Amino acid sequence: MADLPVMIVTGGSRGIGAAIAQRAAKSGYNVCVNYTAAEDRAQEVVKAIRAGGGEAVAIRADVSKPKEVVRLFEEASRARGPLRALVNNAGIDFPSSLAEAEIEAMHKILDTNLFGPILCTREAVHRMSTKSGGHGGVIVNISSIAAVHGGMPGDCVYAASKGGLDSFTLGIAKEVAAEGIRVCAVRPGIIRTEMWQGQLSEQEVEEAGRRAVPLGRVGEADEIAGLVTWLCSDQAGYMTGAIMNVSGGREIFIHN
Ligand code: NDP
Repeated sequence: MADLPVMIVTGGSRGIGAAIAQRAAKSGYNVCVNYTAAEDRAQEVVKAIRAGGGEAVAIRADVSKPKEVVRLFEEASRARGPLRALVNNAGIDFPSSLAEAEIEAMHKILDTNLFGPILCTREAVHRMSTKSGGHGGVIVNISSIAAVHGGMPGDCVYAASKGGLDSFTLGIAKEVAAEGIRVCAVRPGIIRTEMWQGQLSEQEVEEAGRRAVPLGRVGEADEIAGLVTWLCSDQAGYMTGAIMNVSGGREIFIHN
């Protein structure tokens, strides 16, 4: 069997990351499904990919921890095929007003949502850069429409982490463009995933979709995955530093 290009999807065990992993496998990637806690969920994604004839492996690593990120990339390099894509998808939120926020929780949000993608991108650049013998590649950062409007009430630290990720996307895209690496970002709006659990009830999420989104509904994880896999394809070969909204138009019609 021919070697497939390898894609690492951080936080691939559920939600948007799982949808990206499954779409990427269908597009011909050998997918490394990263997770930090839910091994059973990551293995379910791997099983589904293999059942569909694709190749995948689950790799545990906390993206906010430098040593674990290095190990993630070392384990991924054992997969057959060259690393050609990284999707920085893992993300968390602990909504709270700033006045009441725990310092530890704020650090965790910034470490996972911003420092994590920076660490992973660094490792990916080491391996993909044509200057160091790599084959080039694509990095897609999963930001949030909160980067544009500051987030729902209680989300300012989360929004700041995503705003930082957008700035990082622009800067690193310029830095590595001549090394065969494209870097883009996607800003999802309100997407139906488990991320909302503990924040809003299912009914409240649906209501937010009806009330605060011009298209009148929440989005599905696969609607993000479609754009991400397209950005990784040759059809997007002239795109870098692009940050694309997939929000049902939320940024043009903000009612929190
Ligand atoms: P989920 O909560 O459904 O899934 C989060 C994933 O991230 C899980 O696979 C989880 O793995 C993983 N993860 C969390 N922390 C870490 C870590 N430190 N290291 C490695 N993996 C980790 O979230 P969504 O699918 O909803 O969100 C995916 C991305 O999309 C996030 O970046 C989020 O900010 C962004 N987004 C989501 C929106 C939405 O409405 N859902 C809107 C805008 C942006 P495990 O279970 O193993 O811990």
